[in-house]
Amino acid sequence: MLIDGKVALVTGGSRGIGRQIVETFLENGAVVHSFSRSAGDDLPRMQETYGSDRLIHHAVDVGDEEAVSAAVTRVLEQSGRVDILVNNAGITRDGLIMRMSTEDWRSVMDVNLGSAFYTARALARPMIKQRSGAIINITSVVGLIGNAGQANYAASKAGLVGFTKSLAREVASRNVRVNAIAPGFIETEMTDRLNGDQRETLTTQIPMGRIGTAEEIAKVCVFLASDMASYITGEVITVGGGLAM
Ligand code: NAP
Repeated sequence: MLIDGKVALVTGGSRGIGRQIVETFLENGAVVHSFSRSAGDDLPRMQETYGSDRLIHHAVDVGDEEAVSAAVTRVLEQSGRVDILVNNAGITRDGLIMRMSTEDWRSVMDVNLGSAFYTARALARPMIKQRSGAIINITSVVGLIGNAGQANYAASKAGLVGFTKSLAREVASRNVRVNAIAPGFIETEMTDRLNGDQRETLTTQIPMGRIGTAEEIAKVCVFLASDMASYITGEVITVGGGLAM
């Protein structure tokens, strides 16, 4: 029970890595608010297991500034505080730059980077006032090393790195920690789109020789959210089987 009694807000909790973070936080004693457009299949199941007072789903498009602001206000009314914020929601709209539409650029920036700004801005003041908080931004190895066909995605994820370090410096003296996790290739719907050949080529580039699991990201997330990481801020922890070392 690493985060027993803590209140967490996780974006993109309906599927993939976010869904696993929600479950791992519940297993470790937290009350979890999840922001995503849909509840998916798993959030209702987890509500049955852990109770609808422990897991609250908010139907929110995190790229919509006003919707995020209203939902954060609801969370603070319901739980009185937020101790942990995980900015995990993310999308891809891949394409070579010559063919990338402005819409594909903007939607990726809004959902992947804008959302972290909207949630963190809304929660910075309450966290500073309570003199504690942990913010974790889910970036990507692609934000560190780039990837052809993902200029929008890589820019949004590199942006999250600068955002993490700047915010960490702003709030460190008030005991609010801000860190990022950069996953490598993780088995989720986002990577399901890769065909067999792409998967094989990718796997040969990973020193550990395999794609990672959502559990392997969620474990690092609960560590960073907990007091075990009480002196860690402004860091980007790569969890990628050695992919970006
Ligand atoms: P995923 O399986 O596609 O799930 C994405 C999650 O984000 C879903 O819960 C989705 O919920 C939510 N989401 C998407 N657009 C949203 C919006 N506009 N408003 C609210 N929620 C939204 O993706 P994943 O693989 O778990 O990725 C999670 C995070 O890890 C992303 O930030 C991704 O960039 C990062 N990452 C993933 C990998 C990987 O290999 N999988 C590697 C590096 C980094 P709804 O559709 O219900 O809204």
